Amino acid sequence: MQLVEPGLYIGTAADLNDAQGLAKAAVSHVLSVDSEDPALPQEGGIKHKWINVLDQQTSDLLSHMDDSFLFLQEAVEGGGAALVHCQAGRSRSATMVTAYLMRSHGLSFSEAYGRLQRWKPDVQVNSGFQDQLQLYESMGCRVQRSSTEFRQYRLRLLAHQHSDPSQVPREVFAVDPADSASTEVSYRCRKCRRTLFRSSSLLSHDIGGGASSFHHKKSSNPTGNAACTSYFIEPVQWMESALIGQLDGPLQCPRCTSKLGSFCWAGGQCSCGRWVTPSFQLHHNRLDQIRPISFQNTLTNTHTD
Ligand SMILES: [Zn+2]
Ligand SMILES: [Zn+2]
Repeated sequence: MQLVEPGLYIGTAADLNDAQGLAKAAVSHVLSVDSEDPALPQEGGIKHKWINVLDQQTSDLLSHMDDSFLFLQEAVEGGGAALVHCQAGRSRSATMVTAYLMRSHGLSFSEAYGRLQRWKPDVQVNSGFQDQLQLYESMGCRVQRSSTEFRQYRLRLLAHQHSDPSQVPREVFAVDPADSASTEVSYRCRKCRRTLFRSSSLLSHDIGGGASSFHHKKSSNPTGNAACTSYFIEPVQWMESALIGQLDGPLQCPRCTSKLGSFCWAGGQCSCGRWVTPSFQLHHNRLDQIRPISFQNTLTNTHTD
């Protein structure tokens, strides 16, 4: 068990057997980030939270970062101490401690991770967890489930875990834009004008190798440009029947059945060369972009105090 800062320890599963050590450190809260059922000492009235995950790049820790932060904060602010542990005390627990340090001290991922490494040089957060911590940083250390970044992250995890294509959780489908009005830019079938998706469903990708010399290295491409001839989007409700039981296949307009593009859970390549996973790809030349008419400018101009 290693002290990270006052009230916060990181350790291994074996540390739970040391009832004396836990009592001496006044541990009041234990956060277990482990796939094995942790056996806590009977006495001591320790509060426990268990996140059941394997140490794999595709395990989801990001979704637990806010809850875990509050749990650890309760220990520290309540005058107790928290122990965060996994099996070896190197990857999963280090991820959750890093997330805590980021949010509690307003640190970037690299600052927080560097601080932890100074106290415990053998920590080794796997690359999938590093990506999740960077995403946590870019969301302002609050998991924003409705943000494009988070939805894209969830889709990628789903693509990696995707062994049974009939098991696509319903919540990953964006609401069918044909069912409601919106002030967002929307995209419709060029042939029959059926609305297919909104701009918030677009998933960006960095422009790939073929065109990279013409663009900034990290240029992000939310709407597609000359290099990209397709939109990559999240799945939308009207695709549900096409997706059932399939790992890949065509995407057709739900009204006129003209072919719009294709999907593949394993990913697909954009015309710019970039590989996108998973890929729900609709061709620019099959769609029209519709901008809602806005009176906002004229209203602002006439507004006086
Ligand atoms: Zn592209
Ligand atoms: Zn159509």
